[in-house]
Amino acid sequence: MNPVVEARDLRQVYRIRRGMFQPPAHLQAVGGVSFAIAPGRTLAVVGESGCGKSTLARMVALIEQPTAGSLVLDGVDAVRPPAGERRRLRQAVQLVFQNPYASLNPRKKIGAVLEAPLAINTDLPAAQRAERAREMLAQVGLRPEHANRYPHMFSGGQRQRIAIARALMLQPKLLVADEPVSALDVSIQAQVLNLLAELPATYQLAYLFISHDLAVVRHIAHDVLVMYLGLVMEQGPRERIFAQPLHPYTQALLASTPGVGSRQRRIVLQGELPSPLAPPAGCVFSTRCPYAVERCRAERPAARRIDERLVACHFADDFLRSGFPEARGSDNAHPSAA
Ligand code: SF4
Repeated sequence: MNPVVEARDLRQVYRIRRGMFQPPAHLQAVGGVSFAIAPGRTLAVVGESGCGKSTLARMVALIEQPTAGSLVLDGVDAVRPPAGERRRLRQAVQLVFQNPYASLNPRKKIGAVLEAPLAINTDLPAAQRAERAREMLAQVGLRPEHANRYPHMFSGGQRQRIAIARALMLQPKLLVADEPVSALDVSIQAQVLNLLAELPATYQLAYLFISHDLAVVRHIAHDVLVMYLGLVMEQGPRERIFAQPLHPYTQALLASTPGVGSRQRRIVLQGELPSPLAPPAGCVFSTRCPYAVERCRAERPAARRIDERLVACHFADDFLRSGFPEARGSDNAHPSAA
């Protein structure tokens, strides 16, 4: 099946001013990410805050123009769309934001909020727009009469359902959700997650799901892309990555998430994420990796295909063969030194 969206070597570099007498710095927020998502499939992008996942989401949602790379959406070049295609592309991709409180206009009734995309982008008469809005409310688990209420009359979970309904009004091909449940109470996260998990199959959507929460990702994703300092550390099918991560960073993320950790050795992340303005030489994870050796600090590992996924680690083959050894934080910590 043809993918709905295909990104190749997508990059985003920001120019940062540093004062009158200093040359500008360059911050690489996303350093070459490639993926494809077919209809009905969900790709989850995970990593700590500042890893570049939200920048990637904004590029795929056509909010930011990438610095380099290609993005094909619904068969059309979305970076340099042909004349007349820009509007159709904007309808084909919709975004669900993290904070449902901020994303709804408090002065508009919910019916008007849901009808607005139809009023702007279609010729549907008012009665049909109102009917579609009521149908969509029912599909996301709300009542049709809720169309006459204002956003402040709903709970956080209900508002996020409304935001999801609004995103679906134009029948998009691709849905981008950036931490869609992290602002909600834990007690209602599961209900909204269940709704989000049903969407790709129900609407044959491609789904890009951004999250720092691996418990959520295990529930919702088909494929997983792990990012660190703008680069892909590991990328592949969810079952393989959760069953046996091959990158120490993936293993550390899994080990820090209650209930999802693989049975392998626990890796505890030390220190802070380095500044993206001055990323470490060699492997960008080397300053926090318990298996780092001289080669890691000198040579950046390319992403290689191993065991049905891509892994950017010099020693991924060793970790596949022998698992993660005891981490002593020295040059003999990884299996090849044994
Ligand atoms: Fe750790 Fe070296 Fe692998 Fe990077 S290349 S993840 S520093 S072992």
